Amino acid sequence: MTVATLYIIATPIGNLEDITYRAVRILGEVDLIAAEDTRHSLKLLTHFGISKPLTSYFDHNQQFKGERILNALRRGKSVALISDAGTPCISDPGFQLVRDAVAENIPVVPLPGACAAVTALAASGLPTDNFTFAGFPPARQGKRRTFITNMSELPGTLVLYEAPHRLLETLNDIREVLGERQVIVARELTKIFEEFIRGSASEVIDTVSQGIVRGEVVILIAPGKMTPQESEPLESVLHRLMTDGTLSIKDIAKQAAVIAGVSRSEAYAEALRLKDDLDRA
Ligand code: SAM
Repeated sequence: MTVATLYIIATPIGNLEDITYRAVRILGEVDLIAAEDTRHSLKLLTHFGISKPLTSYFDHNQQFKGERILNALRRGKSVALISDAGTPCISDPGFQLVRDAVAENIPVVPLPGACAAVTALAASGLPTDNFTFAGFPPARQGKRRTFITNMSELPGTLVLYEAPHRLLETLNDIREVLGERQVIVARELTKIFEEFIRGSASEVIDTVSQGIVRGEVVILIAPGKMTPQESEPLESVLHRLMTDGTLSIKDIAKQAAVIAGVSRSEAYAEALRLKDDLDRA
């Protein structure tokens, strides 16, 4: 194959049968395969009898490697980009390379396939007509709560990726900020221990707390607003967030408004009043 083309190829997220005929064919035809982790991808390629020059392309070498890959494309070579699992560019490296290729009018051809977010959503039983995929929440709690708060007004299903060791704390923040919405944890999709943990935020937290969650997880959150009766009083929320000590008054007001079901301006005014009281005490 000598026509300069960048192929963005989805690979399985667990079950090796979840690769397309076309993906296997194109991987076997390109001049170069750029992989997030060459050792990891070598296993997949060997499984399908594919032997092609491999180069790494991951978060921390994107700039330097991206230029080398673009050079190969400029010389008329065809390149396939794959990640460790699923669709490249979706919480995985690739965006920058695609953007640069597009800027140079190099054809970019996507080969569709597995993607954990869409796979989880399809079997979740939650509305699929409107959803937001928000990737990984921030690791630090203050930022994570702001991140969840910012999604609180979105109308559709929310889809998040999370590392298993942070699952419980993120679920707790989801309950804290969004209340008792229906939540689903889709675990180990397409693998032997595939599991869907469904229930209210508290029920899912109970289930998850009973053991160590292993493997990969997607979190899905049903759309919906808390009713005022279910909300925690504004003053109590503000007190709690202020004693946490990690957030600015603006962020405290933003989060408190969602939790207590009041306007941001009301929460901000009350936060300032409370801060004043605390400073004087
Ligand atoms: N590009 C991938 C895709 O298309 O889904 C996502 C890569 S991202 C670095 C890895 C995250 O995807 C995991 O932490 C998890 O949240 C989710 N994930 C990947 N495979 C999964 C699986 N088999 N079951 C559940 N979640 C999975």
